[in-house]
Amino acid sequence: MYFNRYVKANICLILNLILKSLLSTLTNLMHLSQSLINWYSQNKRPLPWRETRDPYKIWLSEVILQQTRVAQGTDYYHRFLVAFPDVHSLAAADEQDVLKLWQGLGYYSRARNMHYTAKEVVEKHNSIFPDSSAGLKKLKGIGDYTAAAIASICFDEPTAVLDGNVARVISRLYATDTPVDSNEGKKTITDLAKSLLDTNHPGTFNQAVMELGALVCTPKSPACNTCPLSFACEALKRNQIEKFPNKTPKKSPTIRHLNYLVISFTKDKDEFILMRKRTGNDIWKNMYDFPCLESKDASDPKDILDTCVKSGLLGEFPFVVRHVSDEYIHQLSHRRLLARFIRIEVKGVPMLHDNITAVRKNLIAELPLPRLVDRYLATLI
Ligand code: SF4
Repeated sequence: MYFNRYVKANICLILNLILKSLLSTLTNLMHLSQSLINWYSQNKRPLPWRETRDPYKIWLSEVILQQTRVAQGTDYYHRFLVAFPDVHSLAAADEQDVLKLWQGLGYYSRARNMHYTAKEVVEKHNSIFPDSSAGLKKLKGIGDYTAAAIASICFDEPTAVLDGNVARVISRLYATDTPVDSNEGKKTITDLAKSLLDTNHPGTFNQAVMELGALVCTPKSPACNTCPLSFACEALKRNQIEKFPNKTPKKSPTIRHLNYLVISFTKDKDEFILMRKRTGNDIWKNMYDFPCLESKDASDPKDILDTCVKSGLLGEFPFVVRHVSDEYIHQLSHRRLLARFIRIEVKGVPMLHDNITAVRKNLIAELPLPRLVDRYLATLI
């Protein structure tokens, strides 16, 4: 009898402790979440896409801002909205015009996917974006992050976003050891972000974490003294901020050597340059650069020229090499391009073949061009 009462009393005590601990955890989470939202309402930057819940505009801003600084992205956001104010106008546009407008932002597959998706939304969804992250993820180019951002901001879906800023803030807040770029790490961060999410204001909460990562919890020298989460930050408590977020060591980038042939000729007093439309699944698909001979290592321009002559690209005409540029270095996410431009003037009209076309020199700037080519063209007299 006494034993039973003793066991019962202990069970009650344990249940009480568990309940108290759950309540305390819940209160802490609510406190964290509320502190963050308060901070956001007072400190957020007045960005144009924060004044709307139109899924087209939010989608546009999210795609533009991937891998792009806000200042540069804002400019492109305005330009896109002027040219394509809604999903209909983007769907009806020519892909070359979309790529041209995107020029300078890099990662051109984003623009191609956006154009493709606009057409899909118009043709298959009656011009209305799906109103859930699951539905949005079925559209080309919309992954977990973009779907969660659109669904939470536009449709109040209680879904946590995960981008670089969120990963940094959460991993420091909880001092998580698993690399944030591994599948396990992403799951850990997403679960923790979900536990913090304010389900009544998911869009505001998501934007608040991202804004904190952008303005306060920055990669280097975070401003912990002004951080609304400092009272609970584990990395700060341990004085180990620089240890987080933990990331998998980066592989060294692949190097590609591009030997560009800038072949010009004159016809009816106009100067033309041979341009190549890039097809296939390599970088810069459907954009324009020059005919190119790629080599494994840095090549002697003379060898490149021999190969060029043998390829028949210059026809049977005499030619003069006008200039060989210094090496241009162009960094992509996983690749480093080392490019050299060999300027050749042909005394005749070369044969055009495959995807090579002759473009009047003064009209080249109207083509969608990779930044590398644009940089070279700026030096061309
Ligand atoms: S206290 Fe410092 S490290 Fe921790 S979340 Fe805030 S800014 Fe980041």
